[in-house]
Amino acid sequence: MEKLDRMSGVRAVVAEWRRKGERIAFVPTMGNLHAGHMQLVAEAKKRARRVVVSIFVNPLQFGANEDIDNYPRTLAADSELLQAAGVDLLFAPQATEVYPQGLGAATRVEVPDVSEGLCGESRPGHFVGVATVVAKLFNMVQADVALFGQKDYQQLAVIRRMVSDLCFPIEIVGVPTVREQDGLALSSRNGYLSAQERALAPRLYQVLSEKVARVRGGERDFARLESEALAELRAAGFRPDYFRVCNRHTLKSATAQDRDLVILVAAWLGGARLIDNQEV
Ligand code: AMP
Repeated sequence: MEKLDRMSGVRAVVAEWRRKGERIAFVPTMGNLHAGHMQLVAEAKKRARRVVVSIFVNPLQFGANEDIDNYPRTLAADSELLQAAGVDLLFAPQATEVYPQGLGAATRVEVPDVSEGLCGESRPGHFVGVATVVAKLFNMVQADVALFGQKDYQQLAVIRRMVSDLCFPIEIVGVPTVREQDGLALSSRNGYLSAQERALAPRLYQVLSEKVARVRGGERDFARLESEALAELRAAGFRPDYFRVCNRHTLKSATAQDRDLVILVAAWLGGARLIDNQEV
């Protein structure tokens, strides 16, 4: 596996693959890799001859009071995992390589509509940061296909919309959420949980699954379902941010007539903001 931190190096390697007609898959990450990330890599390997993974803790997507300074950085261990998984190229740039003009002066990509509401409401500027860095990474790597986790459901919607609106010549693949045995979605932020919080954390998935089952069973009073879920999460010790039944395509609150639904939740448990979702 090659490890590069400069865009020019990545371009040279990828150009050589392209000359040979090899298909290239790309998995962008912020590192601290777990089985969820590795599932994206496994799917990437099925879809292309070459796999590029990036590790970059993107400062533009963190708010002023968020966890960028504490975000876990484990590059050596990540690199070993990727090597063992048969990844061809690890791209781990510094912030100055990605934002040579500095953050304040960087051109930004704003995806309206799907970025609004849910995490976009609680984390102002977050999806501008995500869309901007993903657009830049797409242009740096120039892959044929890129893979993203459905755990970050709104993020995936933002990226699909950006790719469509800006005509990026790349295919986007969403990969189902990888979970612990007890249902908790794998996340780098799970490491912020104390042992006691970790024991409580699966309640998020349980409440979500119960409400999904209710909707499947014909429940159409979504407002009642949402307020029940919020109360249950509070009683379990979470500080819920939102729990919402949405239209899968628009990510707006669902009406009783909507058919393709997804339930999304974000809640704080101690110092960790956990998110999860399930399509109905
Ligand atoms: P991150 O490093 O958190 O930015 O995540 C990098 C990619 O991994 C994103 O596309 C995430 O959606 C995906 N991802 C994170 N956690 C999981 C998970 N538990 N299952 C599947 N994909 C995941």
